[in-house]
Amino acid sequence: MFKLEKSVVIDRNDDVQWAQGKVAVQGIAMSVYSFYVDGLLIDTGSSSLSQEFQSFFNEVDIQQVALTHAHEDHAGNVAWIQQHRDVPIYIHREAVDECASDSNLPLYRKVLWGERPAFTAKPLGDTLQTKQATWDVIATPGHTTDHLSFYNRATGAMFTGDLYVQTKTKVVLDEENIVHTLSSLKNLLKYDFEQIYCCHAGFLANGRARIIEKIAYLEELEGNIRKLYDQGCVLEEISKSIFPREYPITKVSGEQWSSNHIITAFIQHFSKESLR
Ligand SMILES: [Zn+2]
Repeated sequence: MFKLEKSVVIDRNDDVQWAQGKVAVQGIAMSVYSFYVDGLLIDTGSSSLSQEFQSFFNEVDIQQVALTHAHEDHAGNVAWIQQHRDVPIYIHREAVDECASDSNLPLYRKVLWGERPAFTAKPLGDTLQTKQATWDVIATPGHTTDHLSFYNRATGAMFTGDLYVQTKTKVVLDEENIVHTLSSLKNLLKYDFEQIYCCHAGFLANGRARIIEKIAYLEELEGNIRKLYDQGCVLEEISKSIFPREYPITKVSGEQWSSNHIITAFIQHFSKESLR
């Protein structure tokens, strides 16, 4: 049996409160955040940490829930909230149907995060209203096609879900399109913000600078992949040159997480460009 170590830390910055849930299994440790501001809960953490997150939900006055996307580490406790609070749950319109059924996850994700039980969600429009603020609902596809970020126009707080996570991304989930992630990151800079609230890195006071660094990293990566692609290298050759290390998650996940997904997305992008 896998032994899961769990803990939660509750903290705040300005008017934003959060719970940071932590899980560790077989030496792999991960954090996931749920944020609360002005009656709005943004993402709910994983069901593997249901008790830890419930202690947070019971402390705050949740009036509505907005989800950046439907992954089990963000939407894992929505069903519990729906059973215990009479509040609307919002998500991208294209994710509403998916949320109506239980998730069907591979074992390693079930072990780490637990299932994402079914819930009833309403589709988000272009904006969201809380007591004190109007929020922009920003389409930031890449990590998933229906990924959203939320921008508080009154305070300038930016909630980025899984758009940022880290600067030097070396592996991504098979459904992530890194080319789209890159253009979503650039698009985000049109908004006036400095700080971000990331669902895995937490509160980042220098969030804008970190996003600019990530854009630079991905553009350099794109340039390096482009060079090898133009020389006629195939995926395996490019992969060996750019990502010589194999990351444990790649094996554990049966290649659901892999550096190759990054390279493949760029190659597809280059070949589309050359058809134009
Ligand atoms: Zn995700």
